[in-house]
Parts: sequence; structure tokens; C-alpha cells
Amino acid sequence: MPIVTPLDRGTILTWLREKDPSRLQSLWQAADETRRSHVGDEVHLRGLVEISNYCRRQCAYCGIRAGNRGVVRYRMTQREIVDCARHAKSLGFGTVVLQAGEDMGLTGAWVSELLRAIKSETALAITLSLGERTSEELAAWKQAGADRYLLRFETSDPELFRKIHPSLSSTAVSDRMAQLRVLRTLGYEVGSGVMVGIPGQTWDSLAQDILTFQSLDLDMIGVGPYIPHPDTPLGVSSEDAGQEQVPSSEQVVYRVLALTRLMCPEANIPSTTALAAVNKKQGRQLGLMRGANVIMPNLTPDAYRISYAIYPDKACLNETMQVGPSAILQQLASWGRKVGQGHGGRRRKAQGVRE
Ligand code: SAH
Repeated sequence: MPIVTPLDRGTILTWLREKDPSRLQSLWQAADETRRSHVGDEVHLRGLVEISNYCRRQCAYCGIRAGNRGVVRYRMTQREIVDCARHAKSLGFGTVVLQAGEDMGLTGAWVSELLRAIKSETALAITLSLGERTSEELAAWKQAGADRYLLRFETSDPELFRKIHPSLSSTAVSDRMAQLRVLRTLGYEVGSGVMVGIPGQTWDSLAQDILTFQSLDLDMIGVGPYIPHPDTPLGVSSEDAGQEQVPSSEQVVYRVLALTRLMCPEANIPSTTALAAVNKKQGRQLGLMRGANVIMPNLTPDAYRISYAIYPDKACLNETMQVGPSAILQQLASWGRKVGQGHGGRRRKAQGVRE
């Protein structure tokens, strides 16, 4: 039976819970065809640089949360970061992604200066993933050369969101949806996403997450399995949503990826590092075969990388994907894909129709 899009909530729910291998095969196929016809066979490579692991937040799932005293904190220098951007460029990547904890030591002015240096030295597209920041900072960074911003809303269930994202103070309530709207207005390409299998996450809310991707008209959508970290409150909690709890399984992530591709055909969707962490042999490839069209190889210097442990055993610590230019080329070719050229920004079928 052909899969008719857009899918309604009931159909999404049925697919999310589907276990029959032959039916799932038809879902993978539909997602792969949609991927090919909308974004093609190119796989865009984004070099990920984890520029700081200082964080002021207490996200209940994250290994680099402020409360985790066991973390050795670091903040890279501008020179070190620009060198990583040059490395990305030398590997033929079109984009560098600067990610960090929510580190107020990365001041607005410092980040602006860094962005100008990277732009003038490499001309790469720059994606930021620095958490919740003020509209003024976001505007200044856009001016200074940032092209895209990643901020996952993590779950569309407001109660669960509040539970796992303690506020900084009684007045500073975390509002990621509001920041996503600001980013859009400022002209950023906007990325968001969720973790799959957070304790307390229900099937119904996961279906709502996918509908939310579509209603936000996201340019980039990242989805990965929740991986418990033993030094976090959520990592040791035994609470969950009972019968309705979504398991944090690789299989469910593929279903979410495929459904996301069907609902958001033009989006850039990475085959995430977390997916590669739960299936080192094949996670990355299966993600690419079931809807994804982006890979984010980790270019953080080894000495820092080990301390950016948002979850245990990140695949990038012993990177399964070799990042030499010819190795990537060969690997992608063996999967029937090719390396994306240029910045690899969102392409719209009907250019100029957005408000
Ligand atoms: N401070 C930035 C970057 C956070 S790390 C921000 O808040 O946006 C990037 C993503 O890693 C998070 O958005 C979250 O979805 C994911 N992540 C964090 N802890 C995780 C865990 N234990 N398992 C799986 N993914 C996790």
C-alpha cells in the first residue's frame, strides 16, 4: 500500500509502534525515495567542534550539566577553533558547527569576533549550537556571519520539558520554542529536534514532536536515541511513563527518522552521532538509508573531545567513520551516495514562497 503524505496523527502513531519487518521495509523505502527526490543523493558533511563544555544549566539527562562535578571543564581558544574550521575546509566540508554547553564565558562579543575570523579565513557556512541565548546576542551573531542555529526542543510535552529542564531562576523560564521563532525572524536557518526514549516520553507526545517539526517548517531536524548517563538525575531515575513509555531503542529512532523525512521532505536531517553510538557498525549508514542526508563528523581535538561527554561512550571517541577526504568519499560511494558540494543549506522546491 502506498504511504500517503502528509500523515495524520493516528497514522504516525501506528507507524511509530509498527514492528512488522515487511511493513517497516515499505516505510524505509518511502522515506528513502522521498529523500532522493527532494534532497538528492548528496550527503552534506558538517564538521562538529565542541568548543566548550562549561554549562550553567541542569538538564536532567546531560552529562555536562552544571551539577556534574566529575567533568573536567575546558573552553577552546579562538585560534584552536579557527584551526578546526580550517581542518573542516581542508577535508572538503561545507559547514562547521560550533557546539557548547550554555557557557556564559562565551560572551556575545567573543563569539562575534570568532565568527568573523572563521568567515574571513574559511568562508565556510557556520552553524551555532550554544543553547539559549538572548535575542540581542543571536542578532549580533547573525550579523557577524552565523548562518544556522541548532536548538532542540527535546520534547513537545510541556510538562516533561519542564521536568527535565530546571529553570535558571523563577523569572528565567526556559522557552526554546520562543527562541526558535526569534531565530527564524533573524534570518537563520533553523534546526531543532528531539531525543527518543526520554523517561516519561509517551508515544503520543513523540507523534506530536513529528507534527511539531512540520508546523515549525524546520530547515534541520536532529533525532537521536536518549542514552542514559549515570552521573545525571535522569540516568539513575526509575520513573517512566509505564505502558505508554517510548523505549530508547535504535529501532524507534529509525521510525522517527523515516516519518520525519516523509513529513518534512526538504529538511536537512543528520544521521546522528548518538545513533552511531548505539550501533557502531551500521547506525550511521542505516540512518542515511532511512531518511537522513547529513553527517556531522567530530573534529574536536582529542584532548577536549573526551571531556564533552554528554552521554557515555560517544561514538566519536573512537570515531568509526574515518574522516580523511578519500575515506569518506569511498564510504559514501559504497552506500550509493556522494559528498555534498557547497554549503549544503536548505533547498526549497518553490523558492520564495516562504512568508
Ligand atoms: N548546550 C547546547 C548543546 C547541547 S548538546 C544546547 O542545549 O542546545 C546537543 C544535544 O545532545 C542536546 O540537544 C540533546 O538532545 C543531546 N543530548 C544531551 N544529552 C543526551 C543524552 N544523555 N543522550 C542522548 N542525547 C543527548
